[in-house]
Amino acid sequence: MDIAFIGLGHMGGPMAVNLVTAGHRVTGFDLVSALNEAAAAHGVVIAESAAAAARDVDIVITMLQQGQHVIDAYQGSPGMPGLLASARAGTLFIDSSTIAVADARAVHGLAQGAGFRSLDAPVSGGVMGAEAGTLAFMVGGSDEDFATAEPVLQVMGRRIVHCGGPGLGQAAKVCNNLILGISMIGVSEAFVLGERLGLAHQALFDVASNASGQCWALTTNCPVPGPVSASPANNDYRPGFSGALMAKDLGLAEHAIVDAGIHAELGLLAAAVYRRFAAEGGGGLDFSAIIEDIRAHSGAPGESEAMA
Ligand code: NAD
Repeated sequence: MDIAFIGLGHMGGPMAVNLVTAGHRVTGFDLVSALNEAAAAHGVVIAESAAAAARDVDIVITMLQQGQHVIDAYQGSPGMPGLLASARAGTLFIDSSTIAVADARAVHGLAQGAGFRSLDAPVSGGVMGAEAGTLAFMVGGSDEDFATAEPVLQVMGRRIVHCGGPGLGQAAKVCNNLILGISMIGVSEAFVLGERLGLAHQALFDVASNASGQCWALTTNCPVPGPVSASPANNDYRPGFSGALMAKDLGLAEHAIVDAGIHAELGLLAAAVYRRFAAEGGGGLDFSAIIEDIRAHSGAPGESEAMA
């Protein structure tokens, strides 16, 4: 297929290269010229603009930071022609950025209003998953558009789930990361409490990993060094999945919770906890370093700062 790839950053760069390796013709563009050069070295043809890349292709994939960036790329902005104005009829637009459900639905509306097919297809799996082609894709849009996209997404990912109509890929992503953010805080609080009570990390792990406390935050991304050798805790909390991205994703969850009117006390609290953690220097660390924040904010025995 002829594919345009817009946004060749941490995730988009390796994803585009995997498409080239699989035999697709990929025309790419990023606002940062060094990223264009890096992708070109791996066979991505670099266009002179995003709009030029989107001309005469079957699929346009965007991998940008935020919803407004996607809207601007689709519509164009002063000095930057838009993707929708240059794509040919029948082009399928796939946005893989992590953005708000409401923004994703607006993006679908823009694409479909201009006569194009569209999917939201955010990912999980991080930069390592992007490089290895093992991402998980959560896809929202029609059955027909999903069927067209699936073989292309399979090149970049291992698990491709059609979650429902427009925006529901983003909904799945935000709900999953809501579980993850809350559970990592829970696991970390339990380890810090265990430390104070004299309980060895390994003993708590051996119990909880085989009991009802079992979860990914404990058994794969364990926030203390030792029990799970590959977890970032053994590597000075180098990400992994950064505190900044968890703060971003929980911010999207917070918006969705408020928009939907859900009584989600822990979700709103987790969003506030990770926002503060990222602002106070945790943004570049793996999100499991929240355990250090919990230790740092813990008081003397008999004192606890109740969060409200
Ligand atoms: P990034 O900042 O490395 O890449 C985004 C790129 O988009 C930048 O290089 C930027 O120059 C480019 N860009 C912005 N506007 C553009 C335009 N109009 N035309 C062309 N290029 C443009 O970000 P990333 O880490 O690759 O993340 C991308 C998305 O994936 C985000 O939404 C993020 O939340 C999500 N995500 C990231 C990870 C991760 O581990 N990095 C994991 C899962 C999901």
